[in-house]
Amino acid sequence: MTTRSLILIKPDGVKRGLIGKIVERLERPGLKIIGMKMVWIDEDFSKKHYKEHVEKEFYKNLEKFIVSGPIVAIVVEGVEAVENVRKIVGDTEPYKALPGTIRGDFAHHHVEFTNREKKAVMNLIHASANKKEAEEEINLWFSESELHDYSTVHEDHVF
Ligand code: AMP
Repeated sequence: MTTRSLILIKPDGVKRGLIGKIVERLERPGLKIIGMKMVWIDEDFSKKHYKEHVEKEFYKNLEKFIVSGPIVAIVVEGVEAVENVRKIVGDTEPYKALPGTIRGDFAHHHVEFTNREKKAVMNLIHASANKKEAEEEINLWFSESELHDYSTVHEDHVF
């Protein structure tokens, strides 16, 4: 059974010109991209996406950052897609993210530093935490008609 996950390339990833490199990390192991678009969200949408963080101290910095430029939103499908994506993306804190992960390869700072600087943790990616969150987030970011059903070579030759 395949599952789906939502990935966001946050404004830092877009502005740093890392869209292609990040998409490649998802495609290379054979995850199937079934939806992708560029969106510039506002504060209201940020509060819907980060509903579990709205009351937290760091939320103000996070919101300022997430509305500061366009985001590339992607839905992937694959075997254990949520867990596979989290493995590819690495730890939330770039400092703890291992080399070979997206965050470990493209960033290095930690939460203590960004909190002191009153900035968000610019960690390039948002990835759904679990299957329930993935379904909710996909429904928030994409309509049914923006998700596409097709076959990749992996489905025929690699699994
Ligand atoms: P998550 O829902 O775990 O992906 O967290 C969303 C975002 O909130 C992360 O990508 C960070 O940018 C930020 N964040 C999470 N935890 C903290 C924290 N303890 N301090 C500051 N920012 C945080």
